[in-house]
Amino acid sequence: MMTTETMASATVAINSMALLKKERGEKIYNFAAGDPILPSHPKVIESVARAMDSELILYPPVAGLQNLRRAASQWINQRYNCSYKEENTLVAAGGKFVIFAAMQLLVQEGDEVLIPSPYWVSYPQITRIFKGRPILLPTHAQNRWKLTPQTLKAHLSNRSKILILNNAGNPTGTLYQKEELRALLKIANEAGLFIISDEVYSEIVYDDHQFFSGGELVKEKMLVVQSCSKNFAMTGWRIGFAFGPEDLIKAMTALQGQSTTGPSIVSQWAALAALKNHSEIAHFVRSTMQKRRDLFIDTFNTLFNGNLEKPASALYVYIPLSIFQKSLDSAEFCMELMTKANIACVPGIAFGTEGYLRMAFSEKEEVLTEGLIALRKALKS
Ligand code: PLP
Repeated sequence: MMTTETMASATVAINSMALLKKERGEKIYNFAAGDPILPSHPKVIESVARAMDSELILYPPVAGLQNLRRAASQWINQRYNCSYKEENTLVAAGGKFVIFAAMQLLVQEGDEVLIPSPYWVSYPQITRIFKGRPILLPTHAQNRWKLTPQTLKAHLSNRSKILILNNAGNPTGTLYQKEELRALLKIANEAGLFIISDEVYSEIVYDDHQFFSGGELVKEKMLVVQSCSKNFAMTGWRIGFAFGPEDLIKAMTALQGQSTTGPSIVSQWAALAALKNHSEIAHFVRSTMQKRRDLFIDTFNTLFNGNLEKPASALYVYIPLSIFQKSLDSAEFCMELMTKANIACVPGIAFGTEGYLRMAFSEKEEVLTEGLIALRKALKS
């Protein structure tokens, strides 16, 4: 069995080879990105340019600009029926740092952190940094990769401390209905767990699917993780938000004060512009990604005689290797695709499930089509 280190090194090796090939001037078909590949919205750029003309670029307040904290709490309250105040809100350098800071404060050696699998790669890694024990809760494709109340109950112990729920989900596009969410949160609450609800893809929800925030259902012992990265196509600006109980937000602010000091004020101006124009920008990102998703799935199913379903949310398709009639070692398979055909994908083993690979559909349409044709060619040769 692969250890975490070999899993991580397989993905790092694929990325390093992609970079090397790129430097050599070779064309890479990038299906591994976690970014919506889009320019920052003109309203964000204009607003930042205006602020840079008239304002000094100084240290921001540690918890974030006050008007940004206010705008962020108003946004989540209005969009997702929550009731956070400015004091419940922290601005941080991305959703990842929000999770890192919360885990640093909450996890003690030996604490069990419950993580539905497949999972976003960082959850177990961050857990281990703070000497916690990741407890993986299996989910299944037949159930659209959703955690069930039975599985959650079956994995509770007297060391269980935190449940990390990723809704909408990477790598599978899983999206929970309100009642499903309510059932899971009730069990977690009764077991005294703290819940980290990672909702960074909340605006990237397709067709007539609807997103529900955990923050609507639980107030205490719950931290909602949000971000401008995916929702507003702003990965490089590095702005995330934490919404939670005031005492935890205060402790996270103190931690931020002695670590990053908070994200750049320039990025905070950009986030403020994004929130002021959130409907327009989120609509643009969602509709562009939906077109790319549809093109990807239609082209893929035609080329590979497949029957992939369109994911309900996020930027990825989680594909069983059986479609390619290939060996089930996902790291080996992805390495081969990179070596032979310059195609970058992420092996399922990196997300905790063997026999799958994750392909992102967030690239420009012509890149998706060209890349899928290259994949077909590589698998035929
Ligand atoms: N959570 C999930 C599920 C993600 O996929 C990512 C990024 O890929 C993040 C959090 C972190 O995003 P950021 O730090 O850019 O806000």
